[in-house]
Amino acid sequence: MLRQYFEMKSRVPDAILFYRMGDFYEMFFEDAREAAPLLGIALTARHRDSDIEAPMCGVPWHSADQHIARLVAAGRKVAICDQVEDPRAAKGLVRRDITRIVTPGTVVDPSALLPDAPCWLAALTPGDPEWGLAFLDLSTGRFHAGKLPPARLAEVFALFRPRETLVPEGCDLPFPTNAAVSRRPPEWFGRARSEAPPETLARLDAATGNAAAAARAYAGEMRPRGLPHVLRPEPLRFDERMRLDASAVATLELFESSDGDPQRSLCALLDRTRTAMGARALREAVSRPSLDPVELEDRWDAVEELVGKPAVREALRAELGGVGDLERQFGRIAVGTAGPRDVLAWASGLKRLPPVRAAGESLASPRLRALLDGIPDVSDLADRVDRTVAPDAPALASAGGAIRAGADVELDSLRDLRRNAQGALLEIEAQERQRSGIANLRVRFNRVFGYSLEVGAAHRDRVPADWIRRQSLANAERFATPALKDLEAKILGAEERIGEIELRLYSEMLVDLAAGSDRVSRAAAAIAGIDLHASFAELAHSARWVRPKLSATPRISIRDGRHPLVEHHRREEPFVPNDCDLSPEKRILVITGPNMGGKSTYLRQVGTIVLLAQAGSFVPAASAEISAVDRIFTRVGAADHLSRGESTFMVEMLEAAAIVREATASSLVLLDEVGRGTSTFDGLSIAWALVEHLHDSPEKSGFVLFATHYHELTEISLVKPAVANATMAVKEIGGRVVFLRKVVPGAADRSYGIHVAELAGLPAAVTARAREVLSNLEKQELDIQGAPVIARRGGESAGEGQLLLFTGSEELVLEKLREADVDRMTPISALSFLASLQERLKG
Ligand code: ADP
Ligand code: MG
Repeated sequence: MLRQYFEMKSRVPDAILFYRMGDFYEMFFEDAREAAPLLGIALTARHRDSDIEAPMCGVPWHSADQHIARLVAAGRKVAICDQVEDPRAAKGLVRRDITRIVTPGTVVDPSALLPDAPCWLAALTPGDPEWGLAFLDLSTGRFHAGKLPPARLAEVFALFRPRETLVPEGCDLPFPTNAAVSRRPPEWFGRARSEAPPETLARLDAATGNAAAAARAYAGEMRPRGLPHVLRPEPLRFDERMRLDASAVATLELFESSDGDPQRSLCALLDRTRTAMGARALREAVSRPSLDPVELEDRWDAVEELVGKPAVREALRAELGGVGDLERQFGRIAVGTAGPRDVLAWASGLKRLPPVRAAGESLASPRLRALLDGIPDVSDLADRVDRTVAPDAPALASAGGAIRAGADVELDSLRDLRRNAQGALLEIEAQERQRSGIANLRVRFNRVFGYSLEVGAAHRDRVPADWIRRQSLANAERFATPALKDLEAKILGAEERIGEIELRLYSEMLVDLAAGSDRVSRAAAAIAGIDLHASFAELAHSARWVRPKLSATPRISIRDGRHPLVEHHRREEPFVPNDCDLSPEKRILVITGPNMGGKSTYLRQVGTIVLLAQAGSFVPAASAEISAVDRIFTRVGAADHLSRGESTFMVEMLEAAAIVREATASSLVLLDEVGRGTSTFDGLSIAWALVEHLHDSPEKSGFVLFATHYHELTEISLVKPAVANATMAVKEIGGRVVFLRKVVPGAADRSYGIHVAELAGLPAAVTARAREVLSNLEKQELDIQGAPVIARRGGESAGEGQLLLFTGSEELVLEKLREADVDRMTPISALSFLASLQERLKG
């Protein structure tokens, strides 16, 4: 047995092998060690021979699916090894074979899927300069393919979040991933390409086609019955959508809150959809916001119309509630795993489509009209189900009774025969009971011995001579008669034939239904779109969000904006709305202010509002006018990340470098405490230089919000005209500091921290000394050995007010002198310049 086990295992080395033994699937060795804790079952050891100790664990066959789902959800692959011959007929060891492989990216079982998230299998094919990449969701048949330089793959993976990634053996992923990675030899990829169905490759370039072919071939390996629902791959055009990288996805909490909770994510907050298809469309809209002004106005028009027609919206949403997940149910029909009850549910969903259309009759927005009118007629598919499946069908087609009466003439007559045979059996029972005089005689059925007459042991003597003994039990005996044998042959023959016909009819029906894949996928897309807009409208109505305006010139102009997640989840204080005004004249905002003042929230709020608008939603504000943003960059400083334990400064600088390299005039850059991950002076210097750089290359930075605890940065505004300062207002009320959460122009009070220390009860001597140290620092008296200190501005009258990095006050004075443009000084400004130099030397 072990030899057979190892033979099977060697065929699926990267999967956990479920090895069927009797009523259990057993796992052994490493598989058992890995699976037992994931499944919460006991790990035991079996001593087969005295020298082999095999760690093992097992699950009952009938609950295998739920255990497989758990392992797959945890990113594992599972291979199912079944007995492929009747154990009673086997001579020696029962023959076994691998009948099924379930992988995280090819699973279609609903218990292993999240209803509102796609389940992507990704395929990557290396290339130069671009890699091919494809995403295939077998549960829905959705399929995308494109190509990108390797450096941008991480970003796309952060949005698609594939559950499994296929790469050629020997190829390293150019980014880290926690998801399952599967490998195939390079030749396999070549074969996948040459054997790909023509529609997979149609109109794709070589790099894209390679990946598309690989994804399809791999999915096909896992689903040998074919993939009729996987249509032509849609090209992924990354530059037509807003770019969001992993850091933005995390900072804006698109799919999970900062502490990892999907229930508190932006998507969860937005979701008022009534179908899983709509929920998935919502995720996609948020992941890939639009840049196209026409599309955006179209989407907002649709939402606006639904906001303005509450009765229609309600009617639509009520109808949508009955549709169900047509798309995933169909996925299982297509791969052949849908049971009769699934198919019935699917058909009843199809029947809800005309009512959805009718409910939206009065809608006029072009986008809604296109969606509603785009719902295809699928009544023939629902009819096909109704004509075939019995209304009270069992969950499994093999259980018998799946096919309705009238579906097939032969089936009907066999069922009649079976029914009559039941009557005939009862007749035989009655006859023989009378003939033998045995009152408790009964006809019994047993899988091994078939039909028999059962007689209590006490009546053994009264058994007629022509009865044939079949089986002796503890206190009964079983007999057959020739007439019973005849009837038995008929019944069992009919039974077997009925089973065959039912399975054949059922599987023919699945094939017929699968042929409707094009229409079903159009129906699903239309429903998803309607549901998405209705969801945005419902939210806009209930949370009083407003339609954004699109500005043709670059600007972000928000009145009374709110952060929807903070507003919704942090109810202990009322949310204070804030404005934001950015334009080419003032495109960089340096925000200082106390810890916990609301700086980070403000940054994320602006990013979220822009993202929502471009996702097609209304926004949480009194009004908002924005120009389309091509990319949101976020960089959250080390201190806000400590929980993630990355090594921080390097990550921080890598991200800063990416921003400097990749931002455009239409980007929105959110920098939160950048530079925190290193010593003060390093950090400050880098932050300073970064803001200067972003300022001086407007074509490469767009709008910038920079939250910082480096007070010194506020001085950049003195020399860089497009930089403005803002701070979080604070107030002292009765010896307590109150955060007003209001963003106001200007810089924070420097001694604020000392003030808080005072209020907190630090001894007066300490806070007095702190004030002294602070003022010394401000005057540059404290020259920390050779370390650079940012110069204070050399007196208000120094004119151009250049700010430089120096090591001490004397050098500073010399430098000032050297640079002073005496020719252009008035006598007064020359005097005050002189005075400022002197003051600096005095300290
Ligand atoms: P900072 O980045 O300045 O340290 P945060 O943005 O982290 O401050 O905000 C601190 C807390 O203040 C947040 O947890 C949030 O609950 C609350 N907060 C921030 N902004 C607002 C606001 N506008 N209205 C109400 N509460 C807010
Ligand atoms: Mg903060």
